[in-house]
Amino acid sequence: MGQFRQRPGRETGSLVSMLGPVNRGWFGKVDGWLRSAANGLFAGVCVVCSEAADPGQGLCDECAAALPWNRICCARCALPLGADAALCGDCLRDPPPFGSARAIWRYAFPLDRLLPRFKFHEDLAAGVVIARGMAEALRKAPRPDALIPVPLHRRRLRERGYDQALELAKILARELDLPLIVDGLRRVIPTKAQTGLDARARRRNLRGAFEARTFRPWLRHVALIDDVMTTGATLREATRALRAAGVERVDVWVAARVQ
Ligand SMILES: [Zn+2]
Ligand SMILES: [Zn+2]
Repeated sequence: MGQFRQRPGRETGSLVSMLGPVNRGWFGKVDGWLRSAANGLFAGVCVVCSEAADPGQGLCDECAAALPWNRICCARCALPLGADAALCGDCLRDPPPFGSARAIWRYAFPLDRLLPRFKFHEDLAAGVVIARGMAEALRKAPRPDALIPVPLHRRRLRERGYDQALELAKILARELDLPLIVDGLRRVIPTKAQTGLDARARRRNLRGAFEARTFRPWLRHVALIDDVMTTGATLREATRALRAAGVERVDVWVAARVQ
């Protein structure tokens, strides 16, 4: 898999990479490294269970039917709710700084298999399936001026060699024909792992973690891209940095929301 690694900093030269004319053919839209992942999809094997799948789909019928769509959720933070209610208790008490969050699925089977494989094992076929599903679901969402991925700290990026939010954002930008700002946000503090911390501790851990470029006045509306949203503390902090840099509206688009 070594040759498919995202080289850190490779794209940081340009502030905005405007995407060329959209080629409707799938192969025309993908980078070299993605082409290999797409070849995996065309092999006709399910990326979750390895059973037979329609070539090009990446998921067998059973795994596709099991996808946990996050349709009944808080209108503001996308927290899965048991019954239709406009807002969750947290958003009523302490509304997040982002405008609205879209989490396409709940963090359950098969996302709990696909996302870790994409994040920690560079399973790009899993990433392509996730990003294409997100793009389908977001086609009618209010269109932002640009997408900005939530960045890793460069130390973490060095360890992992690979930034999953950036990879998702690249595919989304191509599929939805939106500009991608690769280096709109920087992680300036190498925050501790968030696992095991409650919401309040997570927020403390993240204070001042991000720095945004100054966008005033040309960038009004941004969608922040990440793979998973747990308490939302990271996305709140990243939103705060963008708002301080002059962005008027920040929406959040993630693949999955933890309950
Ligand atoms: Zn399957
Ligand atoms: Zn909420």
